[in-house]
Amino acid sequence: MFNSKIKTGLFLAILLCMSCQSENLYEEPENEVKMTLPEDAMATLNFLKDQGYLEEDLEPDLAREAFIYAEDMAIPFGLKPNLDKNVPDDAQKNQWYLSLYGVFYVNSRNITYYIDYDFPSEYILEFAWAAYHWSKVSPNININRTYSRYSADIVLGAYYNENTGAYATAALPSGNGNVGSWMQINVAKDHEALSAESRMTLMIHELGHNLSFLHSNQVEGIRIPGTSDAAFHQAYTCGSIMRSSVYVCGWQLSPWSQWSSDDWRSIGWSYGVY
Ligand SMILES: [Zn+2]
Repeated sequence: MFNSKIKTGLFLAILLCMSCQSENLYEEPENEVKMTLPEDAMATLNFLKDQGYLEEDLEPDLAREAFIYAEDMAIPFGLKPNLDKNVPDDAQKNQWYLSLYGVFYVNSRNITYYIDYDFPSEYILEFAWAAYHWSKVSPNININRTYSRYSADIVLGAYYNENTGAYATAALPSGNGNVGSWMQINVAKDHEALSAESRMTLMIHELGHNLSFLHSNQVEGIRIPGTSDAAFHQAYTCGSIMRSSVYVCGWQLSPWSQWSSDDWRSIGWSYGVY
């Protein structure tokens, strides 16, 4: 008798629990997200909407404290509060006002990256080449590896997401004058099926996001003076390394670069080129 009461109790508890779960399934996920967005994220969301971003394109990722935008870019929750806090002085102004995600030269001249334990090994050499190419194109960009996670500007890692086209995601700068603080490979994708050149061009592209560049074939952000418009970059696969779908376009794991003319203009305008 005693036993059967316990069983009934357990059975009821399980039923109640299941009904809780099924109720949750019908809740609007958007409402749930809005309830839990921290204050800095709300300020950044409202700021981005004022800049012309659509809220439905900004997917909050609470774990990574960023809005995932256009699949492979992460806009840090702290962007707006950081922009308010880090008002540039005169020496920094020229560079700082170029974009929402501006980076001070004092930071871009000395960028370090740290390879976390989960960063896929087949990307280590390719990332080093990508860092080399960014370092060789501009006197105001230098990227080197560090073995200190604490002092690193960019931490390289991994994530798993089957429901995205992105092979990697990179953080845009967070408005504090430094580069975006992380880049992660989506390990749900088959990276070994890619050529080494494809992996390297992907790394150049993602580092471009860390350095504040958006997609050449999309219309958000600033169109850099003298560069072709989004329609051009939608039509031509080799018009820029910052096209949302990256093609190899002659890049090799060698010191010879294949920056397009729009890449040269964009980098020259924002960081200066050699
Ligand atoms: Zn991208």
